Amino acid sequence: MPVIPISPDRQRLPAWFKRSLPTNAVSSETDAVVRKHGLTTVCEEATCPNRQECWSKKAATFMLMGHACTRTCTFCDIEYVRHAPPLDPAEPARTAAAVAELGLRFAVITSVNRDDLPDGGAAHFAATIAAVRARSPGTLIEVLTPDFCGNEAAIDAVIAAHPDVYNHNLETIPRLYPVVRPQARYRRSLDLLKRVSERDPSIRRKSGIMVGLGETDDEVRRLMDDLRAAGTEIMTIGQYLRPSLQHHDIIRFVTPEQFEQYKVWGREAGFAYVASGPYVRSSYVAEEVLKGALDLASLKA
Ligand code: SF4
Repeated sequence: MPVIPISPDRQRLPAWFKRSLPTNAVSSETDAVVRKHGLTTVCEEATCPNRQECWSKKAATFMLMGHACTRTCTFCDIEYVRHAPPLDPAEPARTAAAVAELGLRFAVITSVNRDDLPDGGAAHFAATIAAVRARSPGTLIEVLTPDFCGNEAAIDAVIAAHPDVYNHNLETIPRLYPVVRPQARYRRSLDLLKRVSERDPSIRRKSGIMVGLGETDDEVRRLMDDLRAAGTEIMTIGQYLRPSLQHHDIIRFVTPEQFEQYKVWGREAGFAYVASGPYVRSSYVAEEVLKGALDLASLKA
């Protein structure tokens, strides 16, 4: 199916989306290291609007296990494939080499869904965490994983590799799962987060959603309570932007005031930190988000 991309102008973004983006040589350096090591990033594959800003701070999010995904989420710009290619056993080492060459203090690693693999790619995640740790022992690692179809042994394999932050996105409220994340299950995602909090509470738990997909603010608030009940400490909330005419429609643009209100609700719900704003994405300024969570937690202690 041909994809008809939508330019930002065609989406008629509200005035609060206007911003000036940094231009510096660091972005080119990030790009060069990603290419040199033959890596894939979600920044590029998902056409993230923050790429210029993030890459100018070397904050690329590495995406393991290929360019294409075995699920058909209607918000996502990553290509769908029924049969993905075999895993590249050298990818963990190449990722570690890129992290070391960029000198990252904080590395964010995600993947496509690989429902075709018995463990969903969990061992590949664990190997990548181990490889980054071996080459860059001082680097903090955040993983943003799929739900591994609820495979507990797979989830435990990632937990055992001990990332500093375990992120798993709910993406949207439960009512919209059938149209937004047809192969995912809301309860299954919550169970994953709960499992991380029970198995290793020293790993920080994080999740995120997009707004503008058709949810109500009451539903967002209820989802926050669900996340807290599952032991989630950090939450991200950002505006959904439609990648093409084939993707889910934008139902509303949430105002900056409402994004601030989400932060208030998040504090009331007991989150250590809620990053909420039009351009917030789950990996956006992830190091600062973690620092904010840790600072607030120590203030509360
Ligand atoms: S927000 Fe995340 S996905 Fe987007 S450019 Fe930044 S690091 Fe990449």
